Amino acid sequence: MDFEAWWLVLLPLFFGLGWLAARVDIRHILADSKLLPRQYFEGVNHLLNDRTDKAVEVFVDLARNHNETVELQFALGHLFRKKGEIERAIRMHQKLLARPELKPYDKQSSQFELALDFMKAGLFDRAEELFGQLDDTEFARSARRHLLDIYQQEKEWKKAIEIAQQLRDTSHTYQHEIAEFYCELATQAITRSQQAEARQYLQQALAEHRKCVRANLLIGDLSMQEGEAQAAIDAWLKIESQDQRFLPFAVPKLLEAYDKLDRTDEGTALVKGFLASYPELDLLDLMYERIAKTSSIEQAADFLREQLRQYPSMLGYARLLEAHAAMAPIERKSDIEALRKVILDNSRNQAMYHCGACGFRSRQYFWHCPACNEWESFLPARGQTKA
Ligand SMILES: [Zn+2]
Repeated sequence: MDFEAWWLVLLPLFFGLGWLAARVDIRHILADSKLLPRQYFEGVNHLLNDRTDKAVEVFVDLARNHNETVELQFALGHLFRKKGEIERAIRMHQKLLARPELKPYDKQSSQFELALDFMKAGLFDRAEELFGQLDDTEFARSARRHLLDIYQQEKEWKKAIEIAQQLRDTSHTYQHEIAEFYCELATQAITRSQQAEARQYLQQALAEHRKCVRANLLIGDLSMQEGEAQAAIDAWLKIESQDQRFLPFAVPKLLEAYDKLDRTDEGTALVKGFLASYPELDLLDLMYERIAKTSSIEQAADFLREQLRQYPSMLGYARLLEAHAAMAPIERKSDIEALRKVILDNSRNQAMYHCGACGFRSRQYFWHCPACNEWESFLPARGQTKA
């Protein structure tokens, strides 16, 4: 056979092989692309209908057949964590991290996810280590935010200050938070009887945030402990120019300091002055009791009536009824008491402090909301729900 004839025999054969190869490949690709979307959408559908267990089943199956798909493993790890299956999430992210072919971004991403797993499992040391390794990566800022959470939960206030200083930018100065962290350090120092150290922290709190009311409250407490009633009064009086809404926190302490200095009338006059300037302040109970003790119930009731004319409040009227019950003849006492009880029952909400950020209510005031972890989010007046 000559050269041209060989050519003619081989040509259809090459075409045939090419066609077969293409067909096999296309079939494979089609099978893959059909399998992936169907299961994928099935999984998503379960997720959208809050059937997390079913979604996990589908995605686990999918991940088994496509273990090269890193995104799928991430999604699954995330689902495990959300479901509270932390051990499975940890295993998944550790397996991902161990892959030698992982791109740097995916490696950092696995590290970040694994740190979140550890954090959720309460293994803060391991989470801290992993987050710390993410400096200089795209995850640095998010990692620092989580580190700040960890340090607050662990009460590691010095580390919290350091991280908050790194996080501060024009959108969030962390001024309130850092001042509060210094106050926490001061409180710890006071418990250890390290007064001088506590004072230093409180000065740092004020340098960070000059309107930090809590710092002046604590400086006054320290002075009082050291027997310096006048210095305590000076510190507490500064609160009026910082934020007068917080005066009710300082007033009982101020009165005690004035009493200690035998300047009882001066104390009473000061608080009456506050009420004249800020009738909305929650000071009626305190003043009622003081006037009833130092003068008479009649005078205390007169004071209440005068205040309520300017600034009526349910709790104030309940107090006034208490005064009436005390002064009334025996046969009328029970009626007045019943009325007072009705008012108190209906104004229970007004006797509570509210968190302006999450709405959490409590009889006690918190500088750090136990529900949403915000600092200084509790409103200083009882019953107030908006700043
Ligand atoms: Zn809150």
